[in-house]
Amino acid sequence: MAEGERRMDEHVAPQHDVIIVGAGVCGIYQLYRLLELGVDVTVLEAGGDVGGTWYWNRYPGARFDSESYTYGYSFSKELLDEWDWSEHFAGQPETLRYLNHVVDKFDLRPHMQFDCKVRAATFDNEARYWRVALEDGRALTSRLLLTAIGMLSAPTMRTIEGVDDFEGVSFHTYNWPAEPIELEGKKVAVIGTGATGVQVISESADKVGELTVFQRRPNWCAPLHNSPIDDEAQARIKASYDQIFERCRQTPGGFIHGPDRRKLFEVPEEERLAFWEELYASPGFGVWLGNFRDVLMDEDANAEFTSFIADKIRGRVHDPVVAEKLVPKDHGFGTRRVPMETRYYEAYNRDNVDLVDINETPIERVTPTGLRTSGRDYEFDVIVYATGFDAVTGAFDRIEFTGANGASLRDKWRDGPATYLGMQTAGFPNLITLAGPQGGSVSTNFPRGIEDAVDWATELVTYLHDHGYRSVEPTPEAEEEWTEHVKEMYALLLLSKAKSWFTGYNSNVEGHDKPRYLIYNGGAPRYRKRLAEVAANDYEGFVFG
Ligand code: NAP
Repeated sequence: MAEGERRMDEHVAPQHDVIIVGAGVCGIYQLYRLLELGVDVTVLEAGGDVGGTWYWNRYPGARFDSESYTYGYSFSKELLDEWDWSEHFAGQPETLRYLNHVVDKFDLRPHMQFDCKVRAATFDNEARYWRVALEDGRALTSRLLLTAIGMLSAPTMRTIEGVDDFEGVSFHTYNWPAEPIELEGKKVAVIGTGATGVQVISESADKVGELTVFQRRPNWCAPLHNSPIDDEAQARIKASYDQIFERCRQTPGGFIHGPDRRKLFEVPEEERLAFWEELYASPGFGVWLGNFRDVLMDEDANAEFTSFIADKIRGRVHDPVVAEKLVPKDHGFGTRRVPMETRYYEAYNRDNVDLVDINETPIERVTPTGLRTSGRDYEFDVIVYATGFDAVTGAFDRIEFTGANGASLRDKWRDGPATYLGMQTAGFPNLITLAGPQGGSVSTNFPRGIEDAVDWATELVTYLHDHGYRSVEPTPEAEEEWTEHVKEMYALLLLSKAKSWFTGYNSNVEGHDKPRYLIYNGGAPRYRKRLAEVAANDYEGFVFG
């Protein structure tokens, strides 16, 4: 770098090389990697402590549906050796303890600022850095801005009238308070039957006085089969971490479960049914991600398995009318996120549990004492809103990002995000969207996906530093090509036809009624390969300044 340039750089030097927004699973690992490089970095976290998703979601029943031992960070053998997961699918308190353990072990906390909500971020085109405005009035600057703000961190519930009128206790599941809420003997309503609602309902059915579930659309749920990890299994897991992570690297979803590549209709019926019985009786996502590949790609194959699993539901729910309400009719198995459950369907066999189909009797409003449907008034002590999220782009929309030429990110992404590799978006130099839309981590076992993204971003930071560059952004052409590729990957899967947050037809959010290409469905190995190719080809598709 020439002398004059260096002086100019010093003159406009930002306060930090890097600001990371978010101290969850992704932000923690990114901080660790940047500190290793000796970069000046600070983490801004809206919550009161570390953990992100696992800090906020404290609702009863919150737990992994990834095998615990595939969810931990893979970067430190010492960490892997010293941490004992107590269950095959750990609960939220344990995961939060784990993340705190990581933060303390690697002395990351001094580099984090809590209760720090980012209000706006503006790229200063002249100085080539970001100006970050916090809700508390402070302003910070950094050369690079890395978002680790989560893909399911913008909860939605305001679409029901009268929410503020309720005089009892009510929460969105994301905002469940840290101090225990007494549910014993209480009249409780749960609105929403996605992965979250299913966990809350299963966990609380036998603890509350009365439970009323308000369901709009049922999902295809499958048993989790959680169990404690005994000493023998613990030793086996620790001795095979290399193989476990290698297995996760090979599967599209970064789980230990990968698709069976046999064609469903080429497998004799008896063998097929035996395989499905085995999957249904096995722990975790195997029933979804370890099934015949064409179950998720071909309508006839999907219909076969859908019929199998519909009968499972009918076999578990005693009242045939209730059972039929719990069998989805608008989408096939696996085309929306499959909620993993523990005795979920059995909850509806209990006398104290009632299922209200709000297609028959829509919720009209929340009242001071409960809920009013078109059918009747209900009284409740507690209302639980398990009503989901403004997924993936919602967390970005809640920050006022302004790019190099005064463009608003919210406006740019209004009809759906456009990115290059899910890592950057044109017109917003030096903004790296870790775990952002169209990236690999959004559709994978999250820590496996974010390790790829973070490692890649860390190499990019090194590259910028080594070449003396002050900015990086993708070309519009590269962005267009990637966004087109993301769309093509959607077209391969039946999930593109179902309405869910995967496809942007997000019924939790008003106005999200068109397809939005939010996630990368090409699989983690393909994504990883593309990231590596781009880096090896001198970051083709990016321009450096
Ligand atoms: P979700 O899957 O989007 O489910 C939201 C539920 O609320 C749906 O049943 C929806 O009905 C209903 N709903 C929304 N607005 C409503 C309204 N105004 N009136 C009535 N019902 C309404 O959200 P989620 O259950 O929180 O799950 C989101 C994602 O979080 C999951 O897909 C998963 O990726 C993740 N998650 C993971 C775990 C885990 O790892 N263990 C656990 C929980 C969640 P419709 O279906 O008709 O829209």
